[in-house]
Amino acid sequence: MPCNLTAEQKKELARNARAIVANGKGILAADESTGTIGKRFASINVENVEENRRLYRQLLFTADKTLADYIGGVILFHETFYHKADDGTPFVDILKNLGIAPGIKVDKGVVALAGCDNGEGTTQGLDGLSERCAEYKKGGATFAKWRCVLKISDTTPSEVAMRENGNVLARYASICQQNGLVPIVEPEVLTDGCHDLARAQDVTEKVLAATYKALSDHHVYLEGTLLKPNMVLPGASCATKFTPQDCAAATVQALQRGVPVAVPGITFLSGGQSEEDASIHLDAMNKLPGKKPWAISFSYGRALQASVLKAWKGKAENVKTAQAELLKRAKANSEAAQGKYEGGVKGFSSEESSFVAGYSY
Ligand code: 13P
Repeated sequence: MPCNLTAEQKKELARNARAIVANGKGILAADESTGTIGKRFASINVENVEENRRLYRQLLFTADKTLADYIGGVILFHETFYHKADDGTPFVDILKNLGIAPGIKVDKGVVALAGCDNGEGTTQGLDGLSERCAEYKKGGATFAKWRCVLKISDTTPSEVAMRENGNVLARYASICQQNGLVPIVEPEVLTDGCHDLARAQDVTEKVLAATYKALSDHHVYLEGTLLKPNMVLPGASCATKFTPQDCAAATVQALQRGVPVAVPGITFLSGGQSEEDASIHLDAMNKLPGKKPWAISFSYGRALQASVLKAWKGKAENVKTAQAELLKRAKANSEAAQGKYEGGVKGFSSEESSFVAGYSY
């Protein structure tokens, strides 16, 4: 495979990618943009000002040192990357001291692909990306995230959307690796729609194939990447019910067909599932017999934070309770990443779906 990284650079990328998903660990996605965290805060009546955003992320990152038993990496938003705790310690240092890799969201959001059906889009942010990656690397980041979205309808995703999103993910991944950051490649097929499980699997397989074709074309070093896909689930408006085992079998088969063995880890997004569903589905995949040459783990945003937010409500006296919610859910997901989750861990919001139609992160 032609690839201009040195042996040393490759070694570092592969080591950092593997460490994030080692021993049942996964990722806490705490990279909500200012607008998105505003929506979360609105649901608990907390004002979306910088100090509240800092206090909330401080709550997450100072929960307890046992967080590092379950979480190998945390994805941050630009503002949070430079925030400090009350005692002046940068959040990045708090994470590093715990043994948790700091990561950074580097995309600049989804924009429309003009003329495409059903509001299809692509993700922007390539301009100046190399310089930004170099800055974040200097600031202590070891990995990055870029999210692309694809939509299922009778006529989508279109060929052009799959090709364009694959290409932009590959350009991003290549630029990250040139700057020493492990790229998390996230081609999210949304759950919006009334399609069934078979259609979700078919689309996910096509999207994965297009993504890995583009990564190959761009000489991306797969051992130094992580994949952040959607689980294969029926559409949010599908009338037919499927068991967690059905969903697990469909998801693992899609991965077997589309994800090279060289990729060290798969870190699923939660995509609006309730906290408990996200844990149960992950566990079912890890319990499923069959070929699974990658770590199968999590990179959850909503499914790790719904209960935390509800417990916190912006009040200092609730911080400890909210931190306990995070630890409980992180432990459940780490067990699920090893196929050892027994189910039934309850929290302030463990059963509630966080699904929002047309979700933008
Ligand atoms: P959810 O787990 O809330 O879907 O988000 C994860 C994420 O980082 C999406 O980019």
